[in-house]
Formats: sequence, C-alpha cells, structure tokens
Amino acid sequence: MDIEGFRKAGYQAVDRICDYYASLQQQPVSAQVKPGFLEDAIPEAAPEEPEQWQLIQDDFHSKIMPGITHWQHPNFYGFFPSNTTFEGALADLYCAAISNPGFNWSCSPSVTELEILMMDWIAKMLGLSEAFLSTSSSGTGGGIILGSASEVTLTVAIAARERALRIIAQGKGGAAQRNGTSAKATSATDEQGTATASLDSDRDVAAQVPGKTAAEVGQDATEDANSRHAKLRGDVTSRLVMYGTTQTHTVGSKAALILGLAFRALEVSSSDGFGLRGETLRAAIEEDERAGRIPFMLVATVGTTSSGAIDNLTEIVEVTRSHPTLWLHVDAAYAGVGLSLPELRDTCHLDAINAHVDSFSTNLHKWGLVTFDCSPLHIRDRNLLTEALTVTPAYLRTAASTHRLVEEMRNLQISLGRRFRSLKVWFVLRSYGQVGFRNHLRRCIDLSQTFLESLQGDAGDLFQVVAPPRWAMVVFRLNPSRSAKFVGDSSSSSSSSSSSSSSTVANGLTGDSHAAAAAAAADGVDLEALNKLFWTRLQDYTADF
Ligand code: PLP
Repeated sequence: MDIEGFRKAGYQAVDRICDYYASLQQQPVSAQVKPGFLEDAIPEAAPEEPEQWQLIQDDFHSKIMPGITHWQHPNFYGFFPSNTTFEGALADLYCAAISNPGFNWSCSPSVTELEILMMDWIAKMLGLSEAFLSTSSSGTGGGIILGSASEVTLTVAIAARERALRIIAQGKGGAAQRNGTSAKATSATDEQGTATASLDSDRDVAAQVPGKTAAEVGQDATEDANSRHAKLRGDVTSRLVMYGTTQTHTVGSKAALILGLAFRALEVSSSDGFGLRGETLRAAIEEDERAGRIPFMLVATVGTTSSGAIDNLTEIVEVTRSHPTLWLHVDAAYAGVGLSLPELRDTCHLDAINAHVDSFSTNLHKWGLVTFDCSPLHIRDRNLLTEALTVTPAYLRTAASTHRLVEEMRNLQISLGRRFRSLKVWFVLRSYGQVGFRNHLRRCIDLSQTFLESLQGDAGDLFQVVAPPRWAMVVFRLNPSRSAKFVGDSSSSSSSSSSSSSSTVANGLTGDSHAAAAAAAADGVDLEALNKLFWTRLQDYTADF
C-alpha cells in the first residue's frame, strides 16, 4: 500500500469505526459464533500472490467482526470494564505509524522521555508520594509502563528475588537497603558460600572490555546472564516464598510459577471483607521462618477480582517494615485509578502505600479510559529493577547510557522492544483533564449505586448482594431460595444453597451471569426460564445507563 492508498483506506476505516460506534447498541453483545467458525472461512496458508486491500477490508468486516464480542457495548456484562477512548485509539494509530521499539533512549528520545513524564503525571493524579516520582529528592522513584498486571508482577518478582538474595548474602547490612536507595553489589555470596549474582547495575561499563571484539563482549554478556541464572538456582532460591491471599489474582501465583518459586495463599475471611489482616501475615511469616523458608514478596491487592476486597495495608506495612527481605507490591489493577478521587484514598490505605509500599500498579486500560494495554508500574527505587534486569551486549551500548545521562527503559523490563504506551496516556489525560477523569469515575460509581438500589429493591427477590459494594463494583448472585423455584420436573432434587454463584457488575454496566447459570444448570434448574428472567431484570435495571 502506498501513501495515497493508505490515505483512502484510512479514511474508510475511520468511517467504518464511526459507523460501528453509532450502531453498537443495536448489536448483540456476544459473538454469535461456534468454536472453529473461522476455519472454513480462512485459507490454510497465506496467499502466494498479493491481494487487493478492498478485499482484505471486506473480509475483516464479514469474517472477523462476527466473532468479536463487543466490549465497548453499553450492555457488555462481563469481567471488568475495558474502556477505550477515541483519544487512546488515535494515539495507537500514531504509534503504529511510527512503529518504534523504544528500548534505548536513542531509539527515539521522545518515547523514553514522555514515558518518564507520564509516570509522574499518573503518580501525582493518584496521590502517590514524591518517593514514587522520578523527580524525587532521592532521584530513585518512577517506573515504567508495561502491558499487563501479570507482566508487572513478574517483573517486580524478579527484582524482589534479587533483593532478598542480596540482603541474605550481606547479612544484617542488607537491612539498611530496605528503605533507601539500593547499593551496588557485585558477586554477592550467600550463606553456603555460593556466589549468588553479579548485581552491578552498570553493565554498560562492565561490557567495555579492552582487547575484545564487540561480538566477544556480546558473548560475555550472554554468558554473564547464563551464569547468574544458574547460580540463582541454589538452596536459597528454593526457600523463597511469595505471599498472596486466596483472593489474589493469578498474577502472583503465575509469577511464582514462572520463576520456580513457592506461592502461599493466605486465608482471609468474609468478616474482614475478604481483605488480608496484618496478624494473618505475621503468623504466616513466623511459621515460614521457623520452617527455614524466606518470605520475599507479598502481592497485596486493592480491589480483588472476585469481590473488590482491599487488603489492610495499614496493618500490613507495620508487619513488612521489620522484614527487609519482604517486598510489598500492591496490585490495584482495577481499582487503583480510584485513588485519583480524594474521597476514596483513606479506604484504599493511600497513607500506607506512600509510607512503605515498594511498588504499586494499576491498569489504566481497565477503568482508566486508556486503550488496552497500559499498566504503569510505580516503584520507590527503580535501581532495584535495573540491578535485576540489566544485561548490555555491545550492540546496545551507547555513550549516553554509559555516562548515565539517560534512562534506558529496557533495563526496567523483561523484553527488549517495547510499545510507545505513554502517548495514549498523554492524549487521554490532556483531553479529559484530571477533572474529566474524576468525573468519569464518579459517574460510574453513581451508576453502580443506582444499579445496587435496583437489585436491593427487586420485588421478585431474585438477586442477593454478597460483598460490600466498592467503587463501581456490585457483587451479586442469584438468591438461592429464588432459583430453587425454577427446578424443572425432570430434574434431580436441587440443593438450593449451592445453586448460586456470584456475579460481578463493575462500572455499573457490566456483569456476568455465566457462572451463576452454570451452577444452576448443574443443579437441574430450568436454565432457560431462569436465564430469561435474569437478563430481563438486569436489562430493566441498566436500561437508563
Ligand atoms: N489483578 C487484578 C486485581 C485483576 O482484576 C486483574 C484482571 O482482571 C489482573 C490483576 C490481571 O490483569 P492483566 O490482564 O493486566 O494481567
């Protein structure tokens, strides 16, 4: 496609997108297709000869769009919201046009510099303290925008693992590093006398070996990474344990799985609103330490996936404070943007976050108006990331980075190449302003209140609210006693107490009846009748939204 071809196709695409949004409400929300539907429609191999754009575009609309579930539909009732905005979409279009991996400052200085500035904009908007800013007096705050909360947690877990190993290697001296800027260390040694890791963050300098060719230096960097990895598999690593709760998203257990480390899900109770208490954490740490294990990371949550629970960070920081190897990460994937509302900050333990949390992350691509994907990770000491993740072969070395004049974003993440995600943050925050951003959140909360009142006032008593409403989230289920009335003649006897399952309505607009329906079906409930009533009633309650 040439420039004029793109101009024409681009105008057409924007027209189609506008038509899509204008008619979205008339579409069914879910894709009306069966598994494998595309197999017959798409050839088995890429075409030998080039095809006309018009044909490709038509096929997109006729073959692909039917298999799309409309997450932007006003009646989308599933999972969390995945809001997008036209500003975010336009940013992604510009990013695609300048397609740019941005791993080094010199790859495109704007990509690195805008990201650093946007991280500070976000931190200030959320009320994070100066410690999380790249302009902090210590100069160590800031962070990076990654693609998902899972990627964030894994990235943080690597840094947490390295810090714990270093603290253990250095004995008591390590504790001093917990709250301040990390010190540089090379070839630390663990209790068994095994070298754990070379933690010199300035590998750019280390890679300048006189008398070696660039290829040899590159090879050295690879070998260095390999030997570090092998050495980290020692006895100490096998004793590390990561904590979450039974309500923590799989971001924690998956990071532990990938790193080959233990994950322990601590119990929480409904009387605490499913949030982790300090005492539970303290007891787990004591038990693990007695057994020779080393707690190295806690994934605490502000706004769990199933019920919006908030771990009691105010109590938790009092416990983690005295455990220098324990990294405290806060996963606020859905709810974190709520910190931009001053009235929600106490509930979310902002003071505790600012006082003693090591890292914090929210997904702007959930409730925060920024087009998927956008997961900013704020960290108190970004050197802990660069110490854990920096590997610099010769071909990535630049004078600017060697002399520490710039931040090289690749050293704060797992992959090398990266997307220019800060552009959509810039577009959205400027176009909405902080006032518009807060209005968006408050409107969602108001809508969820209206929805909650509808559920509670339901004359048929069909629904039951099962967790305290939080932010724009209402967690409800079929009322067990009501669903029992839908048992069909041919069904086996139903246990009404198990015939319900919780569903979530987030943002006042979304919910998911599938789990409830599945449980009901298993119990022999007349699914069709129940489903019809469920949806009719929900639509009544959300019609005005
Ligand atoms: N954490 C919480 C609390 C979530 O609710 C979710 C997703 O719904 C995630 C993490 C996972 O997010 P991601 O898809 O960005 O990994």
